[in-house]
Amino acid sequence: MQDAIIVGGGITGLTTGYLLQQKGLDISVVEKNLRPGGPIQSVSHNGFLIEKGPNSLLPSDPWIFSLIDELGLGNSISEEDPQAKNRYIVKDGKPVAAPTNPLQFLTNPLFSFRAKLRLLTEPFRKPAPLQYTLTESVSAFTRRRLGREFLDYAVDPFVSGIYAGNPDELILKDAFPTLHEFEQTHGSLFKGAKAKRKQSKSTPEAPKKRSVNFDEGLQMLPRTIARKLGNRLWLGSTVVAINRNDQGWQVTWKQDGENFEGFAKNLFICLPSRQVKTLAWPQPISEWISNSPDLPYPTVHSLALGYRRDQIAHPLDGFGALVPSKEKTRILGALFSSSLYPSRAPEEHCLLTTMLGGRGSPELADASESELLEIATTDLQRLFGITGEPMFHYLTTWKHAIPQYTKNFRGWKECIQSLESDYPGLRFGGNSIDGIAISASLLSAKRLADELTQSS
Ligand SMILES: Cc1cc2nc3c(=O)[nH]c(=O)nc-3n(C[C@H](O)[C@H](O)[C@H](O)COP(=O)(O)OP(=O)(O)OC[C@H]3O[C@@H](n4cnc5c(N)ncnc54)[C@H](O)[C@@H]3O)c2cc1C
Repeated sequence: MQDAIIVGGGITGLTTGYLLQQKGLDISVVEKNLRPGGPIQSVSHNGFLIEKGPNSLLPSDPWIFSLIDELGLGNSISEEDPQAKNRYIVKDGKPVAAPTNPLQFLTNPLFSFRAKLRLLTEPFRKPAPLQYTLTESVSAFTRRRLGREFLDYAVDPFVSGIYAGNPDELILKDAFPTLHEFEQTHGSLFKGAKAKRKQSKSTPEAPKKRSVNFDEGLQMLPRTIARKLGNRLWLGSTVVAINRNDQGWQVTWKQDGENFEGFAKNLFICLPSRQVKTLAWPQPISEWISNSPDLPYPTVHSLALGYRRDQIAHPLDGFGALVPSKEKTRILGALFSSSLYPSRAPEEHCLLTTMLGGRGSPELADASESELLEIATTDLQRLFGITGEPMFHYLTTWKHAIPQYTKNFRGWKECIQSLESDYPGLRFGGNSIDGIAISASLLSAKRLADELTQSS
C-alpha cells in the first residue's frame, strides 16, 4: 500500500507528487496523456519558440521561486523584458497603451473625463455587506465601485485575457478573491492596493510583479518535475474507477488497453471538475459528485503567427493587446511573444500569439483553421499595421480550456469540501478549486502536500 496516489499529471498533480516524494513518501502520479503538464506545452517551429497553452507564469509567492531553484531551473528563467512594459487595450479599433502611473491616467484617452472622476471617488464609496457580495458578478462589482467605462475598457478585456470569460457570469469573490478582500478588509480597492504595496515594500522576499518563462519555454517546468518523479509517474494512463475500503483507496487505470490497480492510504484528485465527474466512484460519493453543479469550460484557440519584423508597423513595445467585447475586433487579444521573452523568434522576425473563442464567442468553438486564420490576420493587420501574410501559423485548440468560476463554483466547492471532511485521505486540488493561474496550481500542490504531512 502506497502513501498516496495522485490522479492527474497537470502541473498541480506533478508538483504534489514531487513535494510528497521529497518528504520521503511512496507515491504514484497517474496521467492520461503521454506528455505531462496539461496545457503547459512548448514547441520549436522554424526557429520560433511557441507556447501552445499558457504563455507566462506570474510567481505570486516567494515559495514559487524557491521551488524553481530547488528544481535546478533558476538559471533557465527568462524574465519579462522591461522594454515590453506597455499593456495595450483596443479602443475604437486602435491599440491604446493603458496608463501605468497617475499622470498617464489623467491624460489617457482610454477613459472619458467623467469616468476618471468616477474612478477617483472609489475610496469614498461604502463597501457592500459581505452577504451581498457572495454572489455578486465581476460586472456588477465593477459598475458599483468603478463605473461602466472602467468595466468596458479595463475589466472586461482583463477578464477575457485571464479567463477567456464573461464578467457578467464570473463571481468576483471566487474569480478575483484579492479584489473582494480589498473591499471587505480595507473598505476600498484603492486602500487595499495601497496597503498591499506597503506590505510588499516592507517584505524583502515579496515577489516582483513580473511574469517569467524559461529558456526552452514554460514546458521546462512540468518536464523537469516529471523527470524527478521518474517511474513514479504513469503516463498514457487513464484513471477510470475509484474504490474504497477500511485501509484506503483503490485506483484503477487503463494503459494501452490493459487495466492496472494501485492502493494507497491517501488519494489526491488533481483533475478538471468535468473529468472528476467521468470517474466511476463508489456510492455515496458518486451521487454527491454527479449532483454537484457543473463549471463551464469554453473553447479557446491559441494561434501563433510568425512575421518578418519589417512587415509590422507597430513597435510591439509591450506585453500585448487585449480586446474589449464592445469592440468590433474578433480576436480576444494578441501577445507580443517575441517582445516579451528572448529567443522566441529568429533575428528580424516577430512572434505574435493570438487567442480566439472563449465565453464571449462560442460560435468560434468549431471554426475551421482557415476561418480562424482569416479572422486573426485581418484583425492583426488592422490593429498593428501589418502588411502581407504571416510566414507560418501554428494553431492549438483547447476544447475545454479554463474553468469558469460562475455561480456554480460555490456549490461545486461545497461538494468537494463535504467529501474531504467525510472521507479523510481524500483531497482535491488544481484549477477547478484553487484558482486558474499556474502559480495558483503550484500553491494548490503545496497546500495538498502540507496538509498530508501535517496530518500524519
Ligand atoms: C490556452 C490557455 C492559456 C493559459 N494561459 C495562462 C497563462 O498565461 N498563465 C497562467 O498562469 N495560466 C494560464 N492558463 C491556465 C493554466 O495553464 C492552468 O490553469 C493550469 O495549467 C492548470 O493546471 P492543473 O494541474 O490544475 O490542471 P490540468 O493541467 O488540467 O491537469 C489535469 C490533468 O489531468 C489529466 N487527466 C484528465 N482526466 C484524467 C484521467 N481520467 N486519468 C488521468 N489523468 C487525467 C489531464 O490530461 C491533465 O494533464 C492557461 C490555460 C489555457 C488552456
